[in-house]
Amino acid sequence: MPTGTLQAPPSPHCPEAVPRPSQKGPRSDKSAAVTSSDHALVLFSGGQDSSTCLAWALARYAHVETIGFAYGQRHAVELTCREPIRAKLATPALGRDHMVDLSAALAALGSTALTSDTEIAMSEEGLPNTFVPGRNLLFLTCAGAIAYRRGIKRIVAGMCETDYSGYPDCRDDTIKAMQLALNLGMQRRFVLETPLMWRDKAATWMLAHELGGDALVEMIRTGTHSCYLGDRSRLHNWGYGCGTCPACELRAAGWQRWRAAAAPA
Ligand code: ZN
Repeated sequence: MPTGTLQAPPSPHCPEAVPRPSQKGPRSDKSAAVTSSDHALVLFSGGQDSSTCLAWALARYAHVETIGFAYGQRHAVELTCREPIRAKLATPALGRDHMVDLSAALAALGSTALTSDTEIAMSEEGLPNTFVPGRNLLFLTCAGAIAYRRGIKRIVAGMCETDYSGYPDCRDDTIKAMQLALNLGMQRRFVLETPLMWRDKAATWMLAHELGGDALVEMIRTGTHSCYLGDRSRLHNWGYGCGTCPACELRAAGWQRWRAAAAPA
């Protein structure tokens, strides 16, 4: 029998057997109807940057929720700063908080100097060994999932590539790519907003002052946590920390530059 005339019967698993989206007419975009453009979800760790982002979002949007992550970080003390900061920043716009525990997932993927008692050092490729591969990508994916369920359009995060540790998942290109991936993967029109992306640490202190004056600066100085080692035993003029880890050095240098620029000539 000539095999060229044989045809397989239509299969329900065959792509040809099911209608393609184009056969139903133009794909409708109902995303706008299910997300509120004046609702925001802030990635909020309890650190300086994310606290400034929370104040920034509360000044702009009608409803703001927060999301935080436990991932086995050495400085888990930052998580204990979150509720007091939320209480101090609370306005009628502040909504619920979401905590997601990624400790087991990130531990299974391997340890870094940010998640284990290892000396902080630069790797051969020029990245500090505090870099946790995939961390911010996971955070943004989780935030997208929460925003999807909560009908929130705006995801606000404190990534910055101006004055930072060189982490590739803090860069603007990564954030833009994640926005595209989330929107394609969840069929939404999320907007990822990173108000600190092009600000250095001095400008981040300045932004806090613009948003809430001396009171907000003081709250961020004493109420937030940045130190990678989790040291809250020493209060410097720029806040608590060991004073020597990369996070402390960035925070301290930004504070000194901001104070120097703000000082009368
Ligand atoms: Zn430190």
